[in-house]
Amino acid sequence: SSSDPSAPIKMQSYRLENLSASQKAALLKRPAIKSEATMEIVRPILKAVKEQGDAAVLDLTARFDKVKLTSTVRTGPFAGPDVMAQIKPEVKTAIDQAYANIYKFHYAQKVTGGNKSAAAVGAGGVAPGTGEGEEDAVLEVETMPGVVCRRFARPIQRVGLYVPGGSAVLPSTALMLGIPAQIAQCPTIVLATPPRSDGSIAPEVLYVADKVGASALLCAGGAQAVGAMAYGTETCPKVDKIFGPGNQFVTAAKMLVQNDLDALVSIDMPAGPSEVLVIADKSSHPDFVASDLLSQAEHGPDSQVVLVGVQLSDVELLAIEESLDRQAKALPRCEIVRKAIEKSVTVVVPTREEAMAWSNAYAPEHLILQLDDAEELAKGVVNAGSVFIGPWTPESVGDYASGSNHSLPTFGFARQYSGVSTSAFQKHLTAQSLTKEGLSALGPHVVALAECEGLEAHAEAVRIRLRKLQEAVASA
Ligand code: NAD
Repeated sequence: SSSDPSAPIKMQSYRLENLSASQKAALLKRPAIKSEATMEIVRPILKAVKEQGDAAVLDLTARFDKVKLTSTVRTGPFAGPDVMAQIKPEVKTAIDQAYANIYKFHYAQKVTGGNKSAAAVGAGGVAPGTGEGEEDAVLEVETMPGVVCRRFARPIQRVGLYVPGGSAVLPSTALMLGIPAQIAQCPTIVLATPPRSDGSIAPEVLYVADKVGASALLCAGGAQAVGAMAYGTETCPKVDKIFGPGNQFVTAAKMLVQNDLDALVSIDMPAGPSEVLVIADKSSHPDFVASDLLSQAEHGPDSQVVLVGVQLSDVELLAIEESLDRQAKALPRCEIVRKAIEKSVTVVVPTREEAMAWSNAYAPEHLILQLDDAEELAKGVVNAGSVFIGPWTPESVGDYASGSNHSLPTFGFARQYSGVSTSAFQKHLTAQSLTKEGLSALGPHVVALAECEGLEAHAEAVRIRLRKLQEAVASA
């Protein structure tokens, strides 16, 4: 890294055929997250909140956010005329458009329940925010005559949404977490976000809190906010599941409360730094490719940025590198970008198949297919959080407003985790119902299995009923 602002901002580049197996493995790995030191900071914060409730939250807010508040929880409505007057009209309109798209996509997830085709959900069935006609799909199967099994959804009753504050204003995260909670009809929605230096909350976040029907606003950040939601305080409702991104303290606190039986709380997913992998070839516009890499790099110095180039010549690669350097130097967050880009990697591969194999092995949070016939290539995606298909689909659209969720698995967890969806705010219950005929047919098999496992009371609960049915037949 150089302190000279005119020094080139350049990724490290490799050609697949020159890489040994161990080099490939090293390039596919994320840098280790050193979390023990953070855990040591967070443990006493959680303990204080668990034992002293609101007093601890107010204390820690004074210490870390440098704001003295007299209360930490507010109830709605949050965005009165004075708040709305602070929001630029074009930002309000943009929030409204984003809300409509995210609502439409997440509502369809609820109605289909993965059971019917999405096409069966007419646009007319969508009534944003009204709760009207919001019927969950019920899966019902007769497994044998007289034996019916059902699976249906119920909302998680109390959810906590962490919207990072710190330096930035993040109404988009409030939308991404609040809308599926609203659609799932979670009765208690706590939205937590750290107060600004003057003690206020960004008006855009307050507007979203009202739109998604948040029940309480917790004006606190970091581990103390996670603790307040996990354990509950005098004024903050205890929640059953905590969602949302945040810095190392937020992430560590989520991991710790998830393992504390006093909290009995779950979390959306493990989190690491945000990442993108772009697949490009000769057909890609170098400026588009570079701009996508940079939009990820500006998140922070530990952002992960990967370019996989299919059959790119040195000249074609240079065109991307020159565009990247030029665009990076024009960005306000140029020095953050420089740090992220210097750790970033370009791998040139001989075929589209090898590009996809590299991407699936890396399992990126965001995958951008920035080349001709991207739809065809998308069929080969196995491990990724969200996919951006074709030259007209920058990651930015999914970060804000296309309708898909931006809370996605990082650190390679796209292998086993899904991004936040409506079902993340629901539990799926099952039920079964048997007729007399059903139990007569199935009962003897259950008795045989219960006897095999030595569970006599299980067997008897069936036999006692089978005897009753036989008596009824005999006396008829
Ligand atoms: P934040 O809300 O995550 O954290 C702010 C809080 O951190 C403060 O309220 C304070 O309580 C706590 N804190 C700060 N310093 C501390 C210390 N020394 N000890 C204990 N607690 C301390 O806001 P942020 O810090 O600006 O971080 C935002 C994070 O969210 C970034 O890492 C960013 O990458 C991430 N983010 C991710 C997404 C996404 O969707 N993936 C979106 C937006 C932001």
